[in-house]
Amino acid sequence: MTDRVLMQELTWPEYEARVAAGAPLLVGVGATEQHGPHLPLGTDALLASELLRRAASALGGIVLPTVTYGGKSQPKSGGGETFPGTLSLDAVHLIGTIRDVLRGCVRHGARRIAILNGHLENQWYTTEAIDLALRDARAEGVHDLVVVHLTGEDAISEGLLAEMFPEGFPGFALEHAARIETSMMAHLFPDLLRADRLARDPRAVFPRAERHPHRLMPVPPSGVLSPAQGYDADYGRRLVDEMVQYIIIESRDAFSLGTA
Ligand code: ZN
Ligand code: MN
Repeated sequence: MTDRVLMQELTWPEYEARVAAGAPLLVGVGATEQHGPHLPLGTDALLASELLRRAASALGGIVLPTVTYGGKSQPKSGGGETFPGTLSLDAVHLIGTIRDVLRGCVRHGARRIAILNGHLENQWYTTEAIDLALRDARAEGVHDLVVVHLTGEDAISEGLLAEMFPEGFPGFALEHAARIETSMMAHLFPDLLRADRLARDPRAVFPRAERHPHRLMPVPPSGVLSPAQGYDADYGRRLVDEMVQYIIIESRDAFSLGTA
């Protein structure tokens, strides 16, 4: 048996044996999306992949290749689709991609699957894909499939948020490329953070109603929806700790893995 946790580093017999022994499969769903002038386009996918990698050993799990394209960026939560570098899937394709991945896992014999969503806009498409995959499984006579749908935002404690945002938390949508993601990147991928390029745009103010086409929405020119200033690698470490613990606890509970 190997200690490796990344599917891409396993051979098929190693993978087959571990799935047969009940290893949970862990799938990140990220995005390729502008994250201001200071964070890379792969931020959502990088963070989801790394959080799962850190949680994998405790779960005896295998991390699948991350879905690195996400649902369309929305102006109020990611700046929208007009930025160079934002590259998204039509919803029907994202739903189909996640559904296909889940179907493949079921064919491999997996019955415990965790999906970690790293991009706000993916949430309902992921929910739909899971629902369809469960229906596919039932049609094939598989009735013991459990999929746990994880989202990092649910992991963060009120105490840490209060400490990080003494001026008031702007909400997870406006936190795009802002203090939370920048802190996590400063901790996990310091070489990818352009600390000298932080935008100076104030917190975005949007109309209450969505406007189409989206160029009518007042998105800050930098693409950063709330100031990243005040980010801190130590906040990043604590955010990562809380999220990894959340992934482990919620997955164990859903999969009845106990706390051995
Ligand atoms: Zn992001
Ligand atoms: Mn995003």
